[in-house]
Amino acid sequence: MNNGDTKPNGMETSRRDFLKVLGVAGAGAATVSCGPPDVGDRLIPYLVPPEDIVPGTNVTYSTVLSEAGPEPLGVHAAIRDGRVIKLEGNPEFPNRGALSALAQSTLQDLYDPDRVPGPREKVGGEWTEATWEAAVEAAAAAVGSGLTLLLTPPATGTAAAYYAQWAATMGAEWVAWEPLGHEAMRAANEIAFGRADIPTYDLAAADHVVSFGADFLATWLAPVELAGRYAEARGVEGREPARLTFVGPRLSLTGTNADVWLPARSGSEASLALAVAREVAERRGGGPAARVQDVLAPFTAEAVAEASGVPAARIRALGEELASARSPVALPPDISGQGVYATEVHVAVAILNYVSGALGTTVRFDDTAVRGVAASYADMRALATRLRAGEFRTVVTAGANPAYALPAASGFGAALADVANHISLSSHLDETAATADWLLPSSHELESWGDVELRPGTYGLRQPVMRPVFDVRQREDILLAIAMAVGRDMGVENYGEYLQAEWRDAGGADFEAWWHAALSDGAVVTRAPGGPVAAAAETAPPLSAAAANYPFTLPEPSDDGAVLVLYPTAQFYDGRGANRSWMQELPDAVTKAVWSSWIEIHPSTAEPLGIETGDIVEVATAAGTVRAPAYVYRGIRPDAIGIPLGQGHTEYGRTATGVGMNPLELLDGTADPRSGALAYAGASVELTAVGGREKMPIMQGSDFDLDREIGEMLRVDTALAMAQAHHVDLAELVEAAWDSDPSSPYRWGMSIDLNACNGCGACVTACYAENNIPAVGKDLCDQGREMSWMQIMRYYEETEDDGFQTVHVPVLCQQCGDAPCEPVCPVYATYHSPEGLNAQVYNRCVGTRYCANNCPYKVRRFNWYTYEDPYPLNLQLNPDVTVRQKGVMEKCTFCVQRINRAKLDAKAAGRPVEDGEIVTACMQTCPTQAIRFGNLKDPGSAVSRAAKGSRGYGLLAELNTRPAVTYLKAVTYASVVEGGHGGGHGAGGADHGGEEH
Ligand code: SF4
Repeated sequence: MNNGDTKPNGMETSRRDFLKVLGVAGAGAATVSCGPPDVGDRLIPYLVPPEDIVPGTNVTYSTVLSEAGPEPLGVHAAIRDGRVIKLEGNPEFPNRGALSALAQSTLQDLYDPDRVPGPREKVGGEWTEATWEAAVEAAAAAVGSGLTLLLTPPATGTAAAYYAQWAATMGAEWVAWEPLGHEAMRAANEIAFGRADIPTYDLAAADHVVSFGADFLATWLAPVELAGRYAEARGVEGREPARLTFVGPRLSLTGTNADVWLPARSGSEASLALAVAREVAERRGGGPAARVQDVLAPFTAEAVAEASGVPAARIRALGEELASARSPVALPPDISGQGVYATEVHVAVAILNYVSGALGTTVRFDDTAVRGVAASYADMRALATRLRAGEFRTVVTAGANPAYALPAASGFGAALADVANHISLSSHLDETAATADWLLPSSHELESWGDVELRPGTYGLRQPVMRPVFDVRQREDILLAIAMAVGRDMGVENYGEYLQAEWRDAGGADFEAWWHAALSDGAVVTRAPGGPVAAAAETAPPLSAAAANYPFTLPEPSDDGAVLVLYPTAQFYDGRGANRSWMQELPDAVTKAVWSSWIEIHPSTAEPLGIETGDIVEVATAAGTVRAPAYVYRGIRPDAIGIPLGQGHTEYGRTATGVGMNPLELLDGTADPRSGALAYAGASVELTAVGGREKMPIMQGSDFDLDREIGEMLRVDTALAMAQAHHVDLAELVEAAWDSDPSSPYRWGMSIDLNACNGCGACVTACYAENNIPAVGKDLCDQGREMSWMQIMRYYEETEDDGFQTVHVPVLCQQCGDAPCEPVCPVYATYHSPEGLNAQVYNRCVGTRYCANNCPYKVRRFNWYTYEDPYPLNLQLNPDVTVRQKGVMEKCTFCVQRINRAKLDAKAAGRPVEDGEIVTACMQTCPTQAIRFGNLKDPGSAVSRAAKGSRGYGLLAELNTRPAVTYLKAVTYASVVEGGHGGGHGAGGADHGGEEH
C-alpha cells in the first residue's frame, strides 16, 4: 500500500512545489491547446478566464507515447486545472482509441512520488541536492574528458536524428537498446527476405492464426493494435470466426484465448513449424512447395512428434487446416520461446507463412512498423567488455535500465558501476541510476516535445500536456545544455526549435498554422522518412535461397528434465510498470495473483514433490537460484517451469522495491549466435520444495463457475445456427416496472461480448483511473479487501479431449432492476435511480455492509481505511468523482459522472442523449470493443440490439435480479463439455489439461 510519504534521500518535495504545479500548470495549459507556454513560476488566477477553458470541464490534448509499452500509442490527455487526470486512446492512431492497462497506468509514472525531483549529486554515497547549473557543468566536464557513451531506448523520427547528431557533435557513441527487442525477428527476415524489418501482421484479414508462442494479446509487438485486429477477425456476426491455434510449452493470455493448444516442448517450435509447413506444402503444391521441398523433407509429422511432444495426428490436422484456410497467418515466438535457436524459429515460421500463402496478405512488408535501431543483447555484452577495458571515460544513461533488465552474467551492470563518470538522465532512481555519480532528471513523455515514426513516413506528434511536475528538463534539452557547456554548437537553442525545423518543409508556407493544427488535431502526419530508406517496399518479397536451404536440424527427443520459460506480463512488461500500484494490484491475467512473483508448475510435476499453490519453491540453474511461491498451473507442460519477468527491483521506488524476485538471475547470458538475442528460454532447471509458504494474494476464489453459468461458451456451429434462427424483435421491451421509472426516457445498460474480451484487464485499470479507486496493498488484497469495481474472472471449461478452455468474464455491478442490495440498506444509501442505476449515496452510508452481503455478484467494495495517495499521486484524482473515506461502501455506477455530463450537453443542445454519446471508461479503453453501453429503452441502440442477440444471457439471472448487463457467450471451435465444471481438478488438481504426448 502506498501509505507513506517518505522520499528517497534528498528528494523531498515541498508544498510550494505542489502549488507551483497546480497554479502554473493550470495557467499554462489553459491558454493554448498545443503545449503550455513558459510562464516561469508565477501563479496566475483565472481573473479573466481564457477563452477555451470552462471551469469544471476537461481540456483535451493529443500526444503520442513511445515508452508506455511495446508499441507507440496515440493518446488524448484529459487536463483539468492544469493536471492530466486521464489518458484515452486516439482513434486516429493504429491503437484506434484503445489503450492497454500499462498505458493507462502511465499517469502513475508521471505523478510517481519516487521520481527524482531535481538534480542530485552523489556525495559520500548519499544523494544531495544540486543546482541545474552545477549539474550541467559537472556533466559537461565528464563528457568533455574523454570518449562518451550515450545509452537511450530506441528512438525514431526526429529524436533518432538528434541523438545521432549529438553523438557526432560530441565525438561520442550513441547506443539505443531495449530489453525485449526484436533481434531474432529482424535477423530471420534478413535471412528469409533480405529485409531486416518487422512486418505488418494483418490479423483482421486472417481466418486462421497460429501463434508459435507470441503473446500478441498482451505483450508481443503491438498488443493493443493486434488485439483489436484479431477481435475483428474473431467476430461471429454473419460469418465464421477466425480460428486461433497456440503452440508452445505454456499457455499465456493469448494461449488461454485459443481454440486449440499444442503443448510443444520448449525448443521444438522450429521443427514443429517446419513439419506443419511440410503438411501444407504437400496439400497446396505449386511453386512455393517445390522451392522449399528439400529443406522440409526431413520434417515429417512422425519425426517431429516425438521431439516436440505433439502427436503426429495433430500436426497433420493443423497442416490440413492451414492448407484449406483462405487467409492463414503464423506468428513467431515472443521471448518466452527465445532460446539459442531463436533465429531458426523465426526463419521456420517465415517458411510456413511462405508456403501457406500468407505473404502479401496477412504478412506484409510494404508498411512495416518502425521501431528504431536497437543494439542486440550480444552488442550490449560487447559494450560491457569495452566498458571494463576503460574505453569509455563517461557513460550517459537516459531512459534505459540495463542494470535491472540484463542478466548479471552479461557483466553490464558491474561494468557500469566501474566506469569513471556515470551521468544519469533517468526520471527515476532505478537500478541503473543508482550507480550514477550525477542525476539530471529528465521529463516524462507527457511533459515533452517530440515525434514518433509509426510506419515509414507516418508520424505522431508529441507535445507537453502539462508543466513538469518536478524540477526536471527534457532529455534532449539536457543533452543540448551539456553540448553547449562543452562549447559545441548544434545549431539550435532548444529541442522544440530543432523539432519544428525538422517539420518546417512538411508544414508549407504557413508553418505556424499548420503546426498548431497538427498538434490540436492529434492526427497522424506524414513526411518523407527520416532514416535511411529501405529498398522499394515490396508487399511480399520472395523467399531467399538462404532460407530455402537453411541448415535446420531435426531435434533429438530429450528427457533432460525441466526447462525454464521466462515471459513478460501485461502489467509489468520489461519491469517498467512495477512502481505503479495500479499495476501491482491488477490481477495477472492467467494466475490472478497480485503483488507477487510466482513459479508456475504443472500439477503432475508438483504432486510428487508435495507442492501446492503458495508453497515456497526454489528453482536453480547453472547460473543462479531464485525462490518464490509456487503456482500450480495446468496450462504449462510438466517439463517446463514458467516465471514472469518484471518484479524483484532493488531500486526503483517504494511500490516496486522488494516485491517478488527477478528471474533474470537464472540466466547465464547465452545468446542466439545468429541474431545476438538473449536466450530467455531453454535453461535446464532443478526444482526443489524448500518448505514454508509465502503470501501470494490470488484474486479469484474458484477456477470454475461451478455450473452457475457465469462464463458461458458455445461451439462455433451452435452459435452460428442460433444466430440464424434468432429473430430480433427490436420493438419488444423487456422492461419491468421496477427496472426504471416508466416516465424516464432512459434505462442505462451494458453488453459485454465474451467472444471479443480476451481478459487483458485494460478496462480494470481505466476504471481505477476514472473513478479514484485506491490500491490497498498486498496484505489487504490477501484479506479480500481489494477495491476494484471491475474484475476479470477467469473460468475454465472442460473439453471433450480432457483439456480445458478458458473464458474471461469482466464482472462489475450489474445495476440490477430488482437489486438485492437495495432493500437491505437501513439508511437508503443504496437506492434505485429513475434511470435504472443502482446508485450509492456515500454520505448517507453508515457501513453496515448488509448490501455487500446480499449482493450475489460480490461487486460492492467497503473502505476499511481512508486510503491516501502520497503527493503528487493525488494530482491524478478525477475531480468529477468523490474520493471515498473509511466506513463507506462503493461500487461501479456505469461512470455516472459521464452519464450526467452527456445529459447536460444534450439538454443544452435541446435533444435527448444519442446512442454512442456516453462512453464509459472501461468501454473507451477496450482494445477489442467488447463493451457496449447505452439506453435499453431505445430499441435501436447498440446495447439493446446486443442484449437481444442470440448469445445474450444475464449473470445469475435465475435469481430474478434483472441485471442491466447482458453478456454475449464466448465462442470456440473446441468441444466444451456440457455442464462440465471439472469437479476436483482446478489449478491444484492432477489432470493434465490438453496434453496428448
Ligand atoms: S473487456 Fe476489459 S479485459 Fe476484456 S478485452 Fe476489453 S479491456 Fe480487455
